[in-house]
Formats: sequence, C-alpha cells, structure tokens
Amino acid sequence: MMNTSHSPAQIDTVMQQAAAAFVAYQKTSPVQKAVFLETIAANIEALGDALISKTSEETNLPPARLTGERGRTTMQLRMFAQLLREGSWVEATVDTAIPDKTPPRPDIRKMLVPMGTVVVFGASNFPFAYSTAGGDTASALAAGCSVVVKAHPAHLQTSIMVADAIAAAIASTGMPEHCFQHVTDASFEAGKALVQHPHTAAVGFTGSYTGGRALYDYAAARKSPIPVFAEMGSINPVILLPDTLSTNAESLAKQYAGSITLGMGQFCTNPGILLGIASEGLQAFLQALAKEIGTIAPAKMLHAGIHKAYFEKMKTALQQKGVKLLSQTTTAPGELEAQPVIATVDGAAFLLDPLLREEVFGPYSLVVICDNEAELTAVWRSLTGQLTTTLMGTDADFAAHASLLEIAPAIAGRIVFNGVPTGVEVCASMVHGGPFPASTDSRFTAVGIHAVKRWVRPVCYQNCPDALLPEALQAANPLGIWRLVNNEWVRA
Ligand code: NAP
Repeated sequence: MMNTSHSPAQIDTVMQQAAAAFVAYQKTSPVQKAVFLETIAANIEALGDALISKTSEETNLPPARLTGERGRTTMQLRMFAQLLREGSWVEATVDTAIPDKTPPRPDIRKMLVPMGTVVVFGASNFPFAYSTAGGDTASALAAGCSVVVKAHPAHLQTSIMVADAIAAAIASTGMPEHCFQHVTDASFEAGKALVQHPHTAAVGFTGSYTGGRALYDYAAARKSPIPVFAEMGSINPVILLPDTLSTNAESLAKQYAGSITLGMGQFCTNPGILLGIASEGLQAFLQALAKEIGTIAPAKMLHAGIHKAYFEKMKTALQQKGVKLLSQTTTAPGELEAQPVIATVDGAAFLLDPLLREEVFGPYSLVVICDNEAELTAVWRSLTGQLTTTLMGTDADFAAHASLLEIAPAIAGRIVFNGVPTGVEVCASMVHGGPFPASTDSRFTAVGIHAVKRWVRPVCYQNCPDALLPEALQAANPLGIWRLVNNEWVRA
C-alpha cells in the first residue's frame, strides 16, 4: 500500500519503513534492480492516454509535449537499467597486496555503495521527467537507495498515478514494499521534516532557487548534515558575437524568439539574458526579435502561483533603472496566460543592479547592450553560476574573441555553440548542473547516467577475505565488470 500520510508521526513511520527497506533493497542484485526499473517504465507507458490527459488538465501543458516528456522519462528508467546490467559504474578498484614492499602494502579494494534513503522533490514544470519517477528517483533506485518522493501539489493526481505504477512494479518484481514511498502533503513543514529526518541520507530537488536554498539550509542545520543536490533556476546567458550579428541577425532573432517562448518560457534552460556589443547588426537583431515576439500568441502557464510570480517579477524588472521595454505580444493575455516580453538595458546600468541577474521564470528575456568586449565580459562574469551559457558566432568571431571561450567553463556546466540552450539531451556526456546557484554541487549532473553518482559513496575493504567481499570486488570478478586492477583497466 502506498503511504500518503502527512503528520510528523506518519512522516516518521514513512522514514522508518524506508530505512528498513533500504537494508533489503541494497542487497537485491543489479539485474533484479534493472528489471524493477524496466517494469516501472512499462507500467507508466501502460497508463496510456489517461495519464497524458490528467497531466495536461493539471499543468496546462499540451498532450504532444507531455507525450514526449513521458518518453524521455521511461527512456531514463531503461537507461539506468542498462547501466546496472553493464555494472562498471560502481568503479571497482583493486590494489593487490605487495608483502615485500617496505612497509608491506595490504590488499585494498574500493567500490561505490548506496548512501541510504533519498528524499526527492520534483518541479512543477516537468511533471514526469523531474518528478515522481523522474531522473532523481530513477538514479537513486539504480544506486540501490530507497526513495521517498514528496509529490508536487501542482500535479498531485499525476504524481499519484505514477506512484501507483511504481507500487505495482514493486509488487510484481518482489522488491521490498517500502523501497519507494510517496508523501502527498503540500506543506513546507512536511518537506522540512523529510529533509531533517535522521534516516534521510541525501536529498534531490528540482525547482526554484528559494525552494532549493531552503532545503539546503534545513539539511545544513541537522545534527548530522547531509548532501542536498538541488537543481535550481538559471538565466542561461547567450553571447551574440559581432560577425554573426552582421550577417545572420534575422535568422538569429527567429531562432531565439522560438527558444525564449518555448513552453511559455517555463524551462530552467530558458535564455533569460542575451549579451551583445552595440552595432548595426545588434540593432537589426533587436528589430527582428521585436517583430517575432509581437506575433507570438499568449498561452496558459503551469499554475496560478507561477503566473502571478511571472507578472510580478517581469514588472519589477521593467521598472529598474535603464531597462526599456523592446517588445511584447500584441494580443492581450487571457486567464493564466503569459505575455512574452523582451527588454533591453545597457551594460553599465546592468552592472549596477543585481536584481537584473535574477531569473524571471516565463517568456521574458533581457538584452544587454554593451559598449565593447571588456564590458560584455564584465557583465557575463557578474552573473552567478549557470546551467548553460551559449556562444553564437562565426569562425571569425571565435578567432577574434578567443578569451571568451576560456571564460565559459567558469560560468556554466554546459557550453552551447551556435544553438539554443533549451532542450537537454539525455546521454552519458550531458552535464545538467553548474556552479552555485544553478546547483548546490557543481561536481555532479542531474541528467544522464552519471546522475547516479550523487547517491553513492566510496568504501574500501582492507585485507578482506575474498568470500566476504561484494561480488564487484571478488578476485574472480564474477560480474564480469571493468575494474581498475593495480592501475590497469581489466575485465577478465
Ligand atoms: P518550487 O516552487 O521551488 O517547488 C519545488 C518543490 O520544492 C515543491 O514540492 C515545493 O513544495 C518544494 N519547496 C519549495 N520551497 C520549499 C520550502 N521552503 N520548504 C519546503 N519545500 C519547499 O519550484 P517549481 O515552481 O515547481 O519549479 C519552477 C522552478 O524550477 C524554476 O525556477 C525553474 O528554473 C526551476 N527548474 C530547475 C530545473 C533544473 O534542472 N535546474 C528544472 C526544472 C525547473 P510545495 O509543493 O509544498 O510548494
């Protein structure tokens, strides 16, 4: 039975059950866990159109977008199943004994082990991929952790349907009953209690800076602090270099009007700020962008809270000194609808106003017009850590502005060339994270197979009898995984 309870005593019960389930779940084999993840994926798919229409009703997101996001979510679950079947992700490392060394070297073997129970908070703008059975849950279950998800109230019924699909997978694959649990309490107190419960080993969060920071602070205030992997908002700066502006202004404007307003701007990778050096090319870009934005129809946002926050933050941004409205959709927005808006400001005014560096979650972008490359660099460097940063330029631009390419890795986790930051490919080489406040730990990614590394820690065994070692470290390598043995990669 799925536990959907809320009181502090009930949350304690959930966490006690999750801790007990962890002990049993971590002992299941990699193949058993893989089958479990694959069954969750199949069960979610079996929910069919009923799931898509319920989620569309709850989030105002169109069915086509949701169908794509569900595909991404089930693909992620299968990707982690594949990782488990292959097995080398545990980083088994073996240094055999050297008795005649002075002093003698003991036999030392190391691997990654799951941390315990992970509490997951999803975001409202990704009801599948960053939610109940999203990347955090899939990677934590793959790691061997038990998981407690706090349902997002903006898509509660969706969350319950997906949680039931996971519960059915637990039952049919014989997993420990409480290795996944679902808490539907919408209060911040419940979230705080989950983060601060002594049995919580780590937290996964996707959402706003305010939310992520609050959870991070709750965790730091515990008697025994725990890691919080919070993926938060980002304004994803885009650098528009002069040569490409002089030749491609119109096509760049079309491309960026599409990216800024994709999903009504409700993506953490939305390009919230564009930087360029004053020129005829930049003027042509602004004119074309203004025209494009004017024609985009308003559409409903996710929920009333996000809608209200968008209009308040956008209006506050427009009231800042030096900020000018460039363009907005000409059609008046209806109930819950967002109106795409582009504003401009010059580099000097931007540098004086920290508020302009904050995310306005929705279809709003600010173009910063800089006097020269030095000012553009100063504006770019003044931004806090980002998920992405983008460079739009020709080969001549990249040759003439080589120093910018050197700065980019300090700004963001993903550097995009001649593209848009919206759209995050799920693959092994993806980095979805970045310096704070894009995420609370820039050493990890929330997307792709390496997301599993957030929920494990290394343990080494010194002079442990072979029969007592985990299979991944035994002399015969019964799992047949890649291992680093005496500094050489071997699979035999
Ligand atoms: P949100 O308001 O921060 O909510 C996320 C979750 O955190 C909710 O379950 C919420 O609880 C909980 N929460 C928030 N503040 C809390 C607090 N003080 N104490 C306890 N729990 C708290 O975020 P959202 O509106 O759903 O999502 C939009 C934001 O997410 C945007 O800023 C966007 O950029 C960001 N985002 C980031 C990524 C990424 O990968 N970096 C991906 C998607 C979205 P309640 O449900 O009880 O309100």
